[in-house]
Amino acid sequence: MNTIPIRTTVVGSYPLPGWLEFAFQNLDNFGRADIEEMIEDAVIVAVHDQTAAGLDVITDGEQTRLDFNLSFYGYINGIEQNDTETRKFGPPAHDQRGRNNIVGDLIAPNGLGVVKEFLRLKKLAPEGPTLKASIPGPYTLSGRLLPNEKYKDRYAITEALLGAGCTEITVDEPSMSCYAYKEDTKRFAGIFNRTVKPVVGKCNLSTHLCFGNFKGHSVGYRSIKPMLPDFLDLDVNEIHIEMANREFAEIELLKPFAEKMNIAVGIIDVKNYYIETVDDVVERIQRCLKYIPAEKLSVAPDCGLSQTARWASKQKLINMVRGAKKVRESL
Ligand SMILES: [Zn+2]
Repeated sequence: MNTIPIRTTVVGSYPLPGWLEFAFQNLDNFGRADIEEMIEDAVIVAVHDQTAAGLDVITDGEQTRLDFNLSFYGYINGIEQNDTETRKFGPPAHDQRGRNNIVGDLIAPNGLGVVKEFLRLKKLAPEGPTLKASIPGPYTLSGRLLPNEKYKDRYAITEALLGAGCTEITVDEPSMSCYAYKEDTKRFAGIFNRTVKPVVGKCNLSTHLCFGNFKGHSVGYRSIKPMLPDFLDLDVNEIHIEMANREFAEIELLKPFAEKMNIAVGIIDVKNYYIETVDDVVERIQRCLKYIPAEKLSVAPDCGLSQTARWASKQKLINMVRGAKKVRESL
């Protein structure tokens, strides 16, 4: 149960301001203090847009996670960047993401930096909204690490990362939803539950499941069916699932989830520059309410907003909150 019916939330990322992207391409020109100041300014921007929209739950917009050294991979020992395997030209897509060779034991001796990010958000955010920290789970993180002699496949890498401290408040596993159709979903649930075990019951624990959004493209088989029934055993308070971009296909399959946990439904399409109107939002929420009670329902964009231009992200969030309020008031 949520404290607020039809709670308005986000997945995690927010578009980086143009100046920050430019600065990330020229990091050598900046000192450590400059970088810290820049990151704070960027978080202030993300917090501002989210609180101005009136969201119940906000994040730091993941404003630090662009550059390799500042991303999760920068915190993991035993890897080095490998861009030789990626496609360099042609339309932008997942196969152009840089990957990493494993050159030693996979360990993250100082964690993955999320606690520091969360403390920064706490310092900068106003009173009111709930503050959320998001972190990719081990299976999703393993996707950009190349197997080697010691870590022979993605599962072996996942097992190694699991021991490296991937245990945070919100654990995102979009790779699990993308590949549920061809992988062992029982094994997925097992990996997930072992990852989150130390925090179960200690926080509002959620996971984000989508079908890919790198450069605005999907990458998985976009169906909820393969996730059932094993994903019902995920040890979380809430699952978030992409729906808007799939025109709410299989919405009835959210019912068994709603019997076990809260559901955050993606009602804003982050891949489409059509801006959902307040009335669109109202209509979509009403469709969700047929299968999920209002106290168990949160609404969010389909995925993080990092791949959607800021002007569009801003307006989409504003309309989402207005629509949710309208339905809430009519309950
Ligand atoms: Zn996503």
